[in-house]
Amino acid sequence: MRKYLIAGNWKMYTTPPEATTLASAIAEKQQFLSPPSSVQTLICPPYTSIYAAVEAVKGSGVRVGAQDCHTENKGAFTGEIAPAMVKASGCSHVIVGHSERRQYFSETNALLNKKILAALNEGLVPIYCVGETLIERKQEQTIAVVRSQLVDGLKDVSLKSADQLVIAYEPVWAIGTGLAATSDQAQEVHAAIRGFLKEILGAHGAETLILYGGSLKPENAEEILAKPDVGGGLIGGASLQEDSFAAIIAMACKLAL
Ligand code: PEP
Repeated sequence: MRKYLIAGNWKMYTTPPEATTLASAIAEKQQFLSPPSSVQTLICPPYTSIYAAVEAVKGSGVRVGAQDCHTENKGAFTGEIAPAMVKASGCSHVIVGHSERRQYFSETNALLNKKILAALNEGLVPIYCVGETLIERKQEQTIAVVRSQLVDGLKDVSLKSADQLVIAYEPVWAIGTGLAATSDQAQEVHAAIRGFLKEILGAHGAETLILYGGSLKPENAEEILAKPDVGGGLIGGASLQEDSFAAIIAMACKLAL
């Protein structure tokens, strides 16, 4: 059976009451779909809506993650949220290095490496995002960019099992633009990432899930998720609407069998 993780990145959307409504609707869809254990569903609300989401999905099998975390577990870091706090709030996963964090908050591979190590230390599964900009793709730098993001970001990472880490390949030009990569473009980069993960992580690198992110929606999900090295999706826009998110989960269920 193929494994998939279908993860929703809610970005800076939903107040706690809105999160309760959306998470409850997703939990209801999940219960109706009743995915096999090889298909996991995750929602990543803003920090202030995590508690509401955790309460709303209780018992449904939907997991909750955060969109970022700090490198330290406590201290004088005004405005930051520690991995231990994320974990204690009921999260299983944390997104690290989303391109919006790299672009608007100047997060570097070296900083993201510290966040990944800190998250792993707390038993959180980091979803480490990599991907090239449009200029880098045009200059045929895609594979080199992704390689250095992986080599630098995963420095000193040693896994006890493949499911401790998830990678998300998110071409920056496809995020929030409606312009998804084709399934062949996605597979080409996913296959390269698979090779790099084996080099960096050894045997566990052969099993680590690699999600595709960038304008994934019900219309293109089946073709992309069917590709051999695609292990799920990191979904922004389409995860804010329970019907489109559930349609993508349903496709993963079909392909997992
Ligand atoms: C994302 O936020 O990671 C993302 C892929 O967004 P969208 O699906 O809207 O492109």
